[in-house]
Amino acid sequence: MNFTAIREEAYESNMQLPALGLVLFTFGNVSVADRAQGVFAIKPSGVAYNKLLPENMVIVDFNGQVVEGGLRPSSDTKTHAVLYQHWQEVGAIVHTHSLHATAWAQSLRDIPLYGTTHADHLTTDIPCAPPMDDQMIAGNYEYETGFQILNYFKEHGLDYKNVEMILVGNHAPFTWGKNGTKAVYNSAVLEYVAQMAALTEQINPLAKRMKEALIKKHFERKHGPDSYYGQNT
Ligand SMILES: [Zn+2]
Repeated sequence: MNFTAIREEAYESNMQLPALGLVLFTFGNVSVADRAQGVFAIKPSGVAYNKLLPENMVIVDFNGQVVEGGLRPSSDTKTHAVLYQHWQEVGAIVHTHSLHATAWAQSLRDIPLYGTTHADHLTTDIPCAPPMDDQMIAGNYEYETGFQILNYFKEHGLDYKNVEMILVGNHAPFTWGKNGTKAVYNSAVLEYVAQMAALTEQINPLAKRMKEALIKKHFERKHGPDSYYGQNT
């Protein structure tokens, strides 16, 4: 078993959070999975970003058990484990308390699709799962947070491969992607879209969701079978 690659990727991805202004102090964590070995690398709990090292990353299996590492893993580790266990194609997960996305989570509101920046990434509002019920909170809290996310996607017919982000009510956002770079990118996009939507409602409290024709046009420009955004590689 060799965990060097995921340790490095998890380290680099975690370091992107302060660089992108997505975390204050230690309010965030990124994990990166190695599906072949059945494990993920995650930030150690409560360690400042400027003290992090690739070798500090804790290796955990998809049941949330530590496989290798001298430090305790992030307190959110079980949420990551549940998502990896149920969503086979997720390669990395990010949790932050980024300012604007968290403000929407605290307001218990989906982020309405107000503009093309949002539509370039997804064709739905950014979902906000309800706050967890008392039984879930009193039980295995971090583990149940994962189920709160899974259940919301199931109940609303959402596909985690199309919608790579969610707000957990009264808490904060979680994003994911095929690798650390994409999951962190989604976290930054979410924060930017959340800020834009908040400003939109401040400028015009009666702002309306963007019309379907524009939503479709923008999403397909980037992601459809005839996409023409960027360069052919
Ligand atoms: Zn949190």
